[in-house]
Amino acid sequence: MNCVAIVAEFKLGKLDPSTYELISKGRDIADAFKTKLYLIMLGEKIDEVIEELSNKGLDQIIAYEHPLLNHYTDAYINILYETFKELKPSLILLIHSFTSMDLAPALAAKLHANIVTNCTDLLIEDNKLIPVRSMYGGKVWVRIGVEDEKPLIVSIQKGVIKPKERIELPKAQILRRSVELKEDELKVKFLRILEPKPAEIDITKADLIVAAGRGVGDKSGLKLVEQLAEALGATLACSRPLIDLGWLPSERQVGLSGKTVKPKLYIACGISGASQHIVGMKDSKIIVSINTDSKAPIFDYSDYAIIGDLRKIIPAIIEELKLKES
Ligand SMILES: Cc1cc2nc3c(=O)[nH]c(=O)nc-3n(C[C@H](O)[C@H](O)[C@H](O)COP(=O)(O)OP(=O)(O)OC[C@H]3O[C@@H](n4cnc5c(N)ncnc54)[C@H](O)[C@@H]3O)c2cc1C
Repeated sequence: MNCVAIVAEFKLGKLDPSTYELISKGRDIADAFKTKLYLIMLGEKIDEVIEELSNKGLDQIIAYEHPLLNHYTDAYINILYETFKELKPSLILLIHSFTSMDLAPALAAKLHANIVTNCTDLLIEDNKLIPVRSMYGGKVWVRIGVEDEKPLIVSIQKGVIKPKERIELPKAQILRRSVELKEDELKVKFLRILEPKPAEIDITKADLIVAAGRGVGDKSGLKLVEQLAEALGATLACSRPLIDLGWLPSERQVGLSGKTVKPKLYIACGISGASQHIVGMKDSKIIVSINTDSKAPIFDYSDYAIIGDLRKIIPAIIEELKLKES
């Protein structure tokens, strides 16, 4: 195996902490295959971050600094392509993010590499790399076999790798490379950041959450979930389909492209448990799920499973709460 290379997730002058998760995984793999671990970093004003990364277990940091690299554009694809052509890594690791959703497939096409995105792990078995990811909305987990001879690009979900505590770490060699960029030569131009409207509620601060999923069926089903939240004094949250339907505002979405919550109690009503939802609520203290499907993946993460129709179960819970109050 040739070397392992990581693409740092660096935005607006800040390193996303998920980069440390990649470094930990990358170090394990580089050690197992007795090869080197590189990190490629693109951005502006990156001195402090490079310093911080230099003692985290990398063999070499290759840094490109330019004001036009402060935001993701096609310049990233071109610079990384040239770098990887020279470095010839067998494995390229990225965090699964809005940037890598564009960048990783573009690199794979240019490098003729294998690509597996949105993984939850990357295992080594019989001297082979096995990316792991869920499919069919979290119903099955697959281990993916990849052709050996091509480079492999893997993007990994944030938060699924716990960085290891290490005592002896190599000090990274730092290689700064200059880059010539002209704004009018870029095909993708950064215009502006559209900040979301200030949220009326912050579900990440709630101790009690009642979340609605597509299983509510229609707005009357959603109303029932709202009534349960009200009866418990809980905050209402939801899975993504309810945002897509325009039934609730995006600030209430839990999951990969929504918010990460860690309440004391999370009640999931009619939510199947797709990995993109689970990643945002799995660290809740107690998880209760109501679902008609006894095989729904959400039950694998639940402390209490209520198998049945939420239209019957929620009114019964509300009734019970009222009886307790009186
Ligand atoms: C890049 C990307 C990012 C994403 N980000 C997110 C994210 O941040 N958050 C998120 O939630 N999703 C996200 N998704 C979508 C995700 O993959 C799933 O499609 C989504 O989570 C499914 O929502 P759900 O569980 O409500 O609906 P479904 O998967 O349709 O599940 C509905 C569930 O309700 C149950 N049900 C039906 N009727 C009843 C009833 N009467 N009573 C009780 N149970 C019932 C069914 O058995 C089923 O299990 C993302 C997807 C992608 C590709």
